[in-house]
Amino acid sequence: MTSDPILLTPGPLTTRETTRRAMLKDWGSRDPAFIALTAELRSRLLGVAHGEGTHAAVPLQGSGTFAVEATIATLVGRDAHLLVLANGAYGERMIAIAIRLGLHVTALRWPEDVAVDPASIDSALQLDGTISHVALVHCETTTGLLNPLQAVAEIVARHGRKLLLDAMASFGALPIDLRSTPVNAVIASSNKCLEGTPGLGFALIETAALAGAKGVCASLSLDLHAQWCGFETNGQWRFTPPVQVVAALVEALRTLEAEGGPPGRLRRYADNLEVLAEGMGRLGFELYLPRALQAPIIATFRTPEDGGFAFQPFYDGLAERGFLIYPGKLTKAESFRIGCIGAIDRRDFTRLLAAIAEVINVP
Ligand SMILES: *Cc1c(COP(=O)(O)O)cnc(C)c1O
Repeated sequence: MTSDPILLTPGPLTTRETTRRAMLKDWGSRDPAFIALTAELRSRLLGVAHGEGTHAAVPLQGSGTFAVEATIATLVGRDAHLLVLANGAYGERMIAIAIRLGLHVTALRWPEDVAVDPASIDSALQLDGTISHVALVHCETTTGLLNPLQAVAEIVARHGRKLLLDAMASFGALPIDLRSTPVNAVIASSNKCLEGTPGLGFALIETAALAGAKGVCASLSLDLHAQWCGFETNGQWRFTPPVQVVAALVEALRTLEAEGGPPGRLRRYADNLEVLAEGMGRLGFELYLPRALQAPIIATFRTPEDGGFAFQPFYDGLAERGFLIYPGKLTKAESFRIGCIGAIDRRDFTRLLAAIAEVINVP
């Protein structure tokens, strides 16, 4: 057990042993016990963002991207117009999804180290009355950048449009309160800040929007209206559910509650980032983003310019010492990334920093 590497990759990530142990059981997917587990899953997911009474949780088999594609395909109809706000790879992915689905889509782009700008979104909506939906990535995992959710949500609502939020890398840690933040659909997955195992995506969707989405989705398996109807009629999944992943996620959601919910989790992640950024600074590594834009989810570091640094030997040296990190995903600057999320705390980062000092030969 102790020889398992620490995953500093933001999904799959390091999970608690209790979470993994919850997978050591077979479940009949149509048995009352699993129906009850699914009901607990849906209710706990809704509770994380306070969507009780306004939204419905619709889990879907697959990774996070499946849930993003399903949500867009279910809620954005042929006569709709989607505006995607993009400042990284995941915004670009939503644009690619909408194009592939043959939807009417417009992109508003910013550089990777700049947050989306509420004022230009305001004017875009002012100028184009045909835009019906706006899509935003809450935390852009490309860099670790936090976009201004509250400001964007208020503008979109003021214009009477609907906001779709890719909250994949933030749900469960960064604040998302559906009572005070108008969001039509919040999309996330099992294996990021919820610290579950991979295999499940989900969306929390306004019940009225779901009810109105019958027959919109051109795909059978990605149709979240049909998926929701399945849960509402007999509490069951339409198609084979990843039963062990569901069991692990429910266990992980109970753990989240015990940690004090998203505020408790955010405190631990912020502490992780603090230790990491401070220690990396001492070792001569610079954060790519300004601190004000940096979410405590994943940190991007610039590759040192002294020429002696190469990612692969750095990765291998850390892997030998039990730490798996991520390559950079920037289109321009050379970089690498270190995740702050998962069942890890400052002691793991202190050990990581010692391993980094060894690998780069700092005495
Ligand atoms: C991880 C992630 C996704 C989905 O990725 P999958 O590999 O499909 O799980 C989407 N958006 C963001 C912001 C992410 O961090």
